[in-house]
Amino acid sequence: MTTFSVKTSGTVATTDITESVIQAVADNDIQDGAALIYCPHTTAGIFINEGADPDVVIDVEAFMKELVPRNRPYRHAEGNSPAHISSILTGNSAMVPISGGKLMLGRWQHVFLAEFDGPRNRQVYVQLLRS
Ligand code: ZN
Repeated sequence: MTTFSVKTSGTVATTDITESVIQAVADNDIQDGAALIYCPHTTAGIFINEGADPDVVIDVEAFMKELVPRNRPYRHAEGNSPAHISSILTGNSAMVPISGGKLMLGRWQHVFLAEFDGPRNRQVYVQLLRS
């Protein structure tokens, strides 16, 4: 398994981790299989979406802030329930096929770490599965 760290930049912030995942595939010389990209945190998540236009993830961040309000009367004493809920909505992992040594992302697809309680240092695991 490959592990790398991501220093996130804001309370709600999205980081493009595509190059790190591609590097993990290259470093392990895997030709066919899949990459499981997993985030071991309860207030962050992993998603795949458009990376060509950076405005897309800015819109996603803005929408998530509206979808999960901060000023609701939550019970969790730590005060970060919106981050926990956003993490559940995003999910903690993504799986991408590998063929011919290449990560088979679509033309516009990138892999993102979604921070909901930052800024922090986050860990990302990439588990490569050979077929
Ligand atoms: Zn908490």
